[in-house]
Amino acid sequence: MTLSGGAMIPNTSIPGSPAPFPGAVELPSTAQGMDGALPRLFGDAEPSASASAAPGTPGYYFLTPTLATRSSPGSSFSRRIFDVRDIRRDFPILQERVHGKPLVWLDNAATTQKPRAVIQRLVHYYEHEYSNVHRGAHTLAARSTDAYEGAREKLARFLGASSPSEVVFVRGTTEAINLVASSWGRRHIGAGDEIVLTTLEHHSNIVPWQFVADEVGAVIRVVPVSDRGEVMLDDYGKLLGPRTRMVAFTHVSNALGTILPAQEMVQMAHRVGARVLIDGAQAVAHFPVNVQTLDADFYVLSGHKLFGPSGVGVLYGKKALLDEMPPWQGGGNMIQRVTFEKSTFADPPARFEAGTATLAPAVGLGAAVDYLDRIGMVNVAFHERELMAYATETLSQISGLRMIGTAAEKAGAMSFVVDGISAEDVGRILDQDGIAVRAGHHCAQPTMDRFGVDATVRPSLAVYNNHADIDTLVRAVRRALRH
Ligand code: PMP
Repeated sequence: MTLSGGAMIPNTSIPGSPAPFPGAVELPSTAQGMDGALPRLFGDAEPSASASAAPGTPGYYFLTPTLATRSSPGSSFSRRIFDVRDIRRDFPILQERVHGKPLVWLDNAATTQKPRAVIQRLVHYYEHEYSNVHRGAHTLAARSTDAYEGAREKLARFLGASSPSEVVFVRGTTEAINLVASSWGRRHIGAGDEIVLTTLEHHSNIVPWQFVADEVGAVIRVVPVSDRGEVMLDDYGKLLGPRTRMVAFTHVSNALGTILPAQEMVQMAHRVGARVLIDGAQAVAHFPVNVQTLDADFYVLSGHKLFGPSGVGVLYGKKALLDEMPPWQGGGNMIQRVTFEKSTFADPPARFEAGTATLAPAVGLGAAVDYLDRIGMVNVAFHERELMAYATETLSQISGLRMIGTAAEKAGAMSFVVDGISAEDVGRILDQDGIAVRAGHHCAQPTMDRFGVDATVRPSLAVYNNHADIDTLVRAVRRALRH
């Protein structure tokens, strides 16, 4: 079963699809009613009937069927998932006060807050396991290696990779894209070849490709987006051709929240023999992602946007592709044998992890995906979807506010501008009420240009946000407009 955007709902009924990973909490498929049950945010389609709770799902409080049933005004979409109050208690920082007001964290597209499980995992690692990995022949080196490689296995499962060796730990999405552009790109992209990007890309999925294109004489082609902020698939199809080597696109737009039809876009690219990199920075915290279902050649993400520590991210690459890619940084850990005449290199993933790895952040990220597995990404998706519909509806009712990006399929982020007040000023006013949102161009200037704005206000959601957060936001925006 597939959410648009290629997100996979773990469900045993997918023919030929990889089995859900063992750590996943899976609701019984009969209780889901999920196929097409998600309300379209701006589309014509009617939100479909509510799904029932998962009866008798054992174990975690997240799945207790008697807990929260939310139904947003004007929406027939309701579903029992988990009690968001329990989730909120897992995040100590949500108890903070800012300017005397309770913190309302709606800057999740920039970075997410950390659950206690991640914080405690880091404390435990530093107190009991910390050492450099791989090289040491002592007990703590073994413990640390187990923790680090264990995190790799968790990330492989979380993403549905076929093996942990397809998971390379990097510093983040930016580094992952630079790695692919530099290593794979220089080898496979030549003069006159084409790289296809979309208008919705973050700068980090534009600039590294410009470096390669400039160096080798390749051409960058850009898929346009509609007034709603959806990629225009017909135009995309027309841009693809025998010279297309790489298609790189974001799974979810960080500026508008649009979910791109990733699976379809991958299939179209593969038909012309191109490789595909999907920037999953804004996707993985919001719905289940399975790289094999997507058939992504590369999939990249940042740990800090996935409730993990900053300083770590993941490059997933199909084994056959990673195997034939040259290293991009040289140093310790990535070699087989070094002489002054010649060096030979380790197999992936070590080949791409030169130097001392980003140890504790990787271990913390492993704890973050464990935490999400316990909630169940399907449940996260439902909760956020409903909240997004509520936020969209209530914000859209404010006169003087214009939503930028009205795609039918959105996740995480939403953008707006208000009459007579700059986005930055709105951000400052909201901060006075303890509300954290991002205001600016969001490192997506081509997207801003497409909509004729310099900046937007961008509230963005995560699993711990609730309806009260949205109500506080809406009240504060109304107040800002009155003044
Ligand atoms: N791509 C997208 C879609 C993003 O939202 C971001 C972060 N805003 C990045 C890439 C870059 O991520 P990082 O700064 O963690 O490398």
